[in-house]
Amino acid sequence: MQHNNKLLWAILIGALAGIFSGWFFGHAMQSVAWVGKLFLNLLMLTIIPLIVAAVITGITSLGDVRKLGKLGGFTVLYYLSTTAIAVLVGLVIVNIIQPGIGITELSDIIPDKVLGKEKTGIEDIVDSLIKPNLVAAAAESQLLPIILFCLAFATALTTIGDKGKTVIHFFEGLNDVMMKLVIWIMYLSPIGIFALIASKLGATGGGEAFWQEMSSVGWYILTVIIGLAIHAVILLIILMTFSRRGRDYVIHMLRALLMAFGTASSAATLPLTMECAIEAKVDKRAVKFVLPLGATINMDGTALYEAVAVMFIAQAYGFDLGITQQAIIFVTATFAAIGAAAIPSAGLVTMIIVLTAVGLPIEGIGLLLAIDWFLDRIRTAVNVWGDSVGAAVIERLLIDSNQSVTSKPS
Ligand code: ASP
Repeated sequence: MQHNNKLLWAILIGALAGIFSGWFFGHAMQSVAWVGKLFLNLLMLTIIPLIVAAVITGITSLGDVRKLGKLGGFTVLYYLSTTAIAVLVGLVIVNIIQPGIGITELSDIIPDKVLGKEKTGIEDIVDSLIKPNLVAAAAESQLLPIILFCLAFATALTTIGDKGKTVIHFFEGLNDVMMKLVIWIMYLSPIGIFALIASKLGATGGGEAFWQEMSSVGWYILTVIIGLAIHAVILLIILMTFSRRGRDYVIHMLRALLMAFGTASSAATLPLTMECAIEAKVDKRAVKFVLPLGATINMDGTALYEAVAVMFIAQAYGFDLGITQQAIIFVTATFAAIGAAAIPSAGLVTMIIVLTAVGLPIEGIGLLLAIDWFLDRIRTAVNVWGDSVGAAVIERLLIDSNQSVTSKPS
């Protein structure tokens, strides 16, 4: 713990130094962008083997297909519920603050980031569940088809008796090796996070330019941040009520939250999220199954963000969305968040689903673009916080129903 506290401080200092240098040295800090990229690549490199080994050993250690059904069902239901709560919080806050009223500079060109993806729809999310080629899915970091395959693979593995033991052993070894690599990579995180933040903030031209960008859509930024903060507190209440964990758990997960802020990617953060949860002595089976699934389908921050952003665009363009259309936003934003990839700015693309569902112009995304990199980092931290709380709550369910206990919570 002592040791990890030191690392937490180092990461915190790295993040602050990143903000400071990006703010004051502006474009010059792009000279460290390669360090950030290298660090991000290093993390991404571990994800596929880690997820494969973790999900397979997580499932095989349940030992019984019926337990898997229950665990899977609870997890999906839980994640769906918290995502829906997040959208609701977003809608309430955006209706109260109304940040889009009075915005005069509207965008009328489709931004590059979403160009060519204008037709993104719910069917794309369904399509992403199963891919014909696992290697191609892995190469494109599409995690959901890989998780689903591992789930099926592990389930089959539990049914072949002794012959499966060697295979299970192999994946257990692979899991331990990957976690060891993650711990090593973690020591580089203060420098990596410094470089990522400094170069990104520097790319905007430094503190003053960033501040100007912020102030043009200041109310919008405030609305998103207030919404995310409220949801983070709701998650904390859920944690304390349903898992009997509390402040300690927040402190354990802080490193992962800072990493989420630094990388803007739940996927890149996943190895560290798992490591932090293991250190917090969350039941390993919950860690290995609930967290990878959470990083892929559970994005509370993104869901809330998409609801606020779409309402903001509607207000700016002068569309008055009534209760029915807000109900449509509620449903589509929930699914759009599930479908968003766990990578930077993915939420901007799936937002197309929500915008088109209520007949708003995709060009509206242009209003959010300049500031998205910043809000992306905050919502990603909330996404990771949501996943972490999920692991603790599901663990409690497992323990309460006496299904599996390997290690009791501290
Ligand atoms: N960057 C987010 C994540 O990785 C997804 C998004 O909202 O763009 O969790």
